[in-house]
Amino acid sequence: PLILGIETSCDETGVGIVRGRTLLADAVASSVEEHARFGGVVPEVASRAHLEAMVPTIRRACETAGITPADVDAVAVTSGPGLAGALLVGVAAAKGLALSLDKPIYGVNHLAAHVAVDTLEHGELPKGCVAMLVSGGHSALLAVHDITDGVVPMGSTIDDAAGEAFDKVARVLGLPFPGGPWIDKAARDGDRLYVRFPRGLTSQRDLERHRFDFSFSGLKTAVARWVEAKRRDGEDVPVNHVAAAFQEAVCDVLTRKAIDACKDRGFEHLLIGGGVAANSRLRAMAEERAAAAGITVRVPRPGLCTDNGAMVAALGSELVRAGRAPSPLDLPADSSMPITEVLNR
Ligand code: ATP
Ligand code: MG
Ligand code: FE
Repeated sequence: PLILGIETSCDETGVGIVRGRTLLADAVASSVEEHARFGGVVPEVASRAHLEAMVPTIRRACETAGITPADVDAVAVTSGPGLAGALLVGVAAAKGLALSLDKPIYGVNHLAAHVAVDTLEHGELPKGCVAMLVSGGHSALLAVHDITDGVVPMGSTIDDAAGEAFDKVARVLGLPFPGGPWIDKAARDGDRLYVRFPRGLTSQRDLERHRFDFSFSGLKTAVARWVEAKRRDGEDVPVNHVAAAFQEAVCDVLTRKAIDACKDRGFEHLLIGGGVAANSRLRAMAEERAAAAGITVRVPRPGLCTDNGAMVAALGSELVRAGRAPSPLDLPADSSMPITEVLNR
């Protein structure tokens, strides 16, 4: 089946088109530059940008895929979680499209879509895997048997998300927003062992209660303190080294807990998704440590890790393939859609 997916949960207007598990088009228009000077996404600005970008982005995706909207078998759209006003634009557009084409609509979970997108790169998902979702708003370990049935949360961050930590530390270091890619870049010429920053929730005591949970706010504060102290002493801040040492701390905890989660469930596959999965050090470290533990890592190419429409189309395609009934045409935008709910019914 030919599925068109629409994503507008944050600041990317994404329209993806897939046939089965084959990606035909992935058009993304980002309003990130409009938010940069505020140091974070401004919801009202994002909603307006989605409104302006929606129709041109749908057009661009159809052109790239060499289809017309009438060829589409189903429309998938992110119905949550995300910014309420931003989600509304995508949901309204998807409803209009589905109604005018007389095709079913699937209102899907953005977080599950970050997992499902890997089907476009590596085919069918393994029967039983741990999915580590690391993005701007979430950091979670999930047990997944069949993504169309939902996910079982194993643990999550108790404070900041991993991507949020990247963005905040980047700000402290004077790097642009969003900071993840900039830290990744700066860290390439840095010494990962320059400072040893704290690894949250890894002490024996914390592990008893928070074996699969994360905490990044202490790390963020530790980096900020370290940088302030240097500046107070009138010393130069070695941005590359700090970026590398911070990134090392995040990746160390993420990969350790992800592999532990696989062992706990007896799963041989670890899937990584979300914007932070684009991080080069995380990818390398996960590969290395998983291989040592006999676990296979699946992580989509960086362009599919950050928000896009292809991931929504990919999840829609899995739901259609599994014979799931579509959402009602009055499906809502649900800004706090729980991670356990894959499809809005
Ligand atoms: P959510 O998916 O939780 O709703 P979101 O949609 O804002 O949040 P994504 O687009 O999935 O998030 O991810 C954006 C986050 O990923 C940002 O915090 C960004 O800094 C981070 N990120 C992107 N590329 C990298 C990278 N190479 N290294 C580290 N972090 C990165
Ligand atoms: Mg974004
Ligand atoms: Fe996302």
